[in-house]
Amino acid sequence: MRKLDFRPKTVTRVPIPERLRSFLAHVQSQIAAGDDSAVFASDDLLQVEYAFGGLVDKGGDQFDFTYFPGASTSPSWRLRLAKAEILDIALERVNYLNLWKCSDAGCENLFSSAADSCRDCDFVETEVSEVKPSITHLASSTNRQEWARGYLSLFPNAHAFEIIGAYNSHPELGERLGWFSLTEVKDVISKAQ
Ligand SMILES: [Zn+2]
Repeated sequence: MRKLDFRPKTVTRVPIPERLRSFLAHVQSQIAAGDDSAVFASDDLLQVEYAFGGLVDKGGDQFDFTYFPGASTSPSWRLRLAKAEILDIALERVNYLNLWKCSDAGCENLFSSAADSCRDCDFVETEVSEVKPSITHLASSTNRQEWARGYLSLFPNAHAFEIIGAYNSHPELGERLGWFSLTEVKDVISKAQ
């Protein structure tokens, strides 16, 4: 079990990476077109390789996004943006975001809200003896789909990106069982539901 141990965050002004702007320009075009991906509430109807998200509430104005500035799923930026902000960024009228960061200088995760919790800094492991044997047990999986099913049985609400991140953080797994594609993990998730 992971228990929340929230640490206060400080605000920082961050230049908007071109990759993030390009994703938000795509989001803007879907909004303008009235595409389903921007009309229905979802966690991930809008996505590219390095970012995903969706409309928070149907008929609402706010979108939540997770953006990966590097090559992997860590670090990540958690962004909440209104339609007007997305438009401003897409049109290059806004070039900076005010985001919150952890006090740990080694943490590169960023958040739109000071109240967001950081998965790397704001949780402590509890009941280690209860959970760890199960995760360790997963290492004996004979193929990566079995590993993903096992991970889902431990963390039923895990998102595909989280599963891939957890798997990739143990390189010996990938070397033995191969690496996941996003489609493959999503397939395991849909079958587990
Ligand atoms: Zn952090």
